[in-house]
Amino acid sequence: MSETRARARAILEQHGIRPTSQRVKVAELLLTSPRHMTAEHILGCLRQSDGHVSKATVYNTLNLFVAEGLAREIHADPERCVYDSTMAPHHHFQNVDTGEMIDIRPEDLAFARLPELPAGTEIESVDVVIRVRRRA
Ligand SMILES: [Zn+2]
Repeated sequence: MSETRARARAILEQHGIRPTSQRVKVAELLLTSPRHMTAEHILGCLRQSDGHVSKATVYNTLNLFVAEGLAREIHADPERCVYDSTMAPHHHFQNVDTGEMIDIRPEDLAFARLPELPAGTEIESVDVVIRVRRRA
């Protein structure tokens, strides 16, 4: 077994997730290093190395990882969700030419003013996506 595969399996076991072979493969891609990946990207990688992989299995696995606190969803693009393996609060640059997401440390971004919150609410989190494109 490769080292990253063993690490992926250990991450799942630590979170009480049964390490089926598909889950281990998705974990190996997404969770063994800080990464941002869409479900389609993960599916493409798995199909390249393993042949047939069910789309539903990949989506179910990603939903499970989110529910178990192993990854979070960033809705940077209304048409697709990016899964982020870094759970600590942070912001992102998104390159609109390539779709690439790049982390911004929270201490590198400050807010001079936030809007008044709707009555009876408090801030749970603030996620900023700064979209960038190749300079003309
Ligand atoms: Zn990130």
